[in-house]
Amino acid sequence: MDAPSRSDLPPTPQGASLSAAAKPVSRWSANMRQHGLLGLFIAVPLIAVLPLPDFWISQLSYIGLYALTCLGLVLLTGVGGLTSFGQAAFVGIGAYTTAWLTVNMGVSPWITLPIGLSITAVSAFVIGIITLRMSGHYLPLATIAWGLSLYYLMGNIDALGKYDGILGIRSLSLFGVDLGQGRGFFLLTWAFVLAAAIALLHLLDSRSGRAIRALRSGALMAESMGISTFRYKVTIFVIAALFACISGWLFAHFQRTVNPSAFGLKMGIEYLFMTVVGGVGHVWGALTGAALTKLLDDQLQVLLPRLIGTSGSYEVIVFGIALVLMLKYQPDGLWDFVERRLPRANRAVDWADAPALAERAKPARGELVLDVKEVRKQFGGLVAVNDISFQIRAGELVGLIGPNGAGKSTTFNLITGVLAPTRGSVLFRGEEMAGLASRDIARKGMARTFQHVKMIPDMTVLENVALGAHTRGRKGVFSAMAWLDTAEERGLFKEAQRQLDRIGMGPHLHELAGNLAMGQQRLLEIARALCADPALLLLDEPAAGLRHKEKQALAEVLRQLQREGVSILLVEHDMDLVMQVCDRLVVMEFGTLLMEGTPEQVQRSPEVRAAYLGTEH
Ligand code: ADP
Ligand code: MG
Repeated sequence: MDAPSRSDLPPTPQGASLSAAAKPVSRWSANMRQHGLLGLFIAVPLIAVLPLPDFWISQLSYIGLYALTCLGLVLLTGVGGLTSFGQAAFVGIGAYTTAWLTVNMGVSPWITLPIGLSITAVSAFVIGIITLRMSGHYLPLATIAWGLSLYYLMGNIDALGKYDGILGIRSLSLFGVDLGQGRGFFLLTWAFVLAAAIALLHLLDSRSGRAIRALRSGALMAESMGISTFRYKVTIFVIAALFACISGWLFAHFQRTVNPSAFGLKMGIEYLFMTVVGGVGHVWGALTGAALTKLLDDQLQVLLPRLIGTSGSYEVIVFGIALVLMLKYQPDGLWDFVERRLPRANRAVDWADAPALAERAKPARGELVLDVKEVRKQFGGLVAVNDISFQIRAGELVGLIGPNGAGKSTTFNLITGVLAPTRGSVLFRGEEMAGLASRDIARKGMARTFQHVKMIPDMTVLENVALGAHTRGRKGVFSAMAWLDTAEERGLFKEAQRQLDRIGMGPHLHELAGNLAMGQQRLLEIARALCADPALLLLDEPAAGLRHKEKQALAEVLRQLQREGVSILLVEHDMDLVMQVCDRLVVMEFGTLLMEGTPEQVQRSPEVRAAYLGTEH
């Protein structure tokens, strides 16, 4: 049985046990992740002992070096949606740091690694702070710019040997064991690749990982969950740079020489190319891409001159054509093609005994929760919201209604901090909200849903809902990568499941959110908002686009929440729904407050009829 049986929750309808046949295994059992890791754990040592020619061992080492950088790009570009052409520069920082320190200062390579990582972290942090606020095409352009700058910097510093670089770097060894070339280096490199892959898989499947995966769905949704999107962008930028730096460190000691050509823009583009071909959204895509590109490159360099009869870099042309075809016919990369065909295992439910999350102190029934005072919003000359005032008391379900263009959404955005009011004040539990960022308002206990559903389609319903509990967790990126967040994760998932069960969505726990029907997506958003343990729930047109049956189900959920004493502001266009469920209505027209009263009073009002019902019905 999948759900922890809780006597205070309605029993989940049939189907719950269907979705729950998974055995209790470790928490990242979903998908084929563990099989991939297991495969690598077996393959890597096996390759090292098999009598393979040295050439192949060396090729596999290069694949590992590329894969490390590509893993960073999966996190940054594939998951976080931030395109970077400049990763090669961070490989360069790792390589040059160790080259210069070991050759000129005689420092041990094992000490230069942490030094290189520190320099990379600081550089990436500074570059990130400057460039990551850019959006659209500006960010990739900025990455090209600093990729080029670092390249020319490396090529023009005397101490770094200008374009000749640094020669005579010693090879790696540890306790007398040679890790410089051959199987030793292969094992060392792939140990890093494995560690990075495991860390990344854990990260993506964590509280921080869900926040990172929310970045691509736009800042609005993530910020309304109390997430600082900028902070996460900088964080993944730094992590991706650190992976690249490790690759550079290994590279320098493998080649025994460094020069700027390996770290220029061309390589930066190639790293992105490899990752996109392999599957930029998948951890295994990085490995697939690195392997395929390296192997194909070698084969083509031998094959093409024979076919064509003259030598030259013809493989570049083939790669160019391949990339175009790839982007057209398999834009999610080769690994995506494989992953779609793999069976998807449900996440094992193992949080039944996790302690419940702490809850915030809620206002007592009847206490003033929201006090909107003469709030005004002008867009240029248009007064979208004209000095509106109304209040919500704890336990009330208040509907904000009005014809299209009346200013409902704008009012909603003023309350939730998406827009700043031109003047006026919004008091939430006695505290001024006007001027605060939406994530700060969310942290104070206001949770919302969206008129146009915003969720992460390739995450399960459960994971999407757990995102709502973001502010109730503490564990960060590094705890997740080191697997130190298991206890907290179980608590968050338990809460997510509880909220889904609460509104009858229990049977859909493990479904991909993108596969849900519209009505269920709306309920998912409500469960996600409830996961934040809100003192006030704001719903923006939850009935929009729903069919009759779905509207009935929504009304039932709203009535249930009302009985449970949840304070709700319902912004809605659908008159039937608001008349059915609301305690009180606030009616807007052309930005002004037309009237306030019970559904009966509003229905009887001739003004409202004229403004709204008259024109609509
Ligand atoms: P409702 O949600 O009640 O349909 P809105 O709050 O979306 O109404 O819009 C109220 C008025 O404000 C409309 O006339 C709309 O065109 C205008 N408006 C809304 N957002 C903006 C904006 N960002 N810039 C300019 N005008 C806007
Ligand atoms: Mg609207």
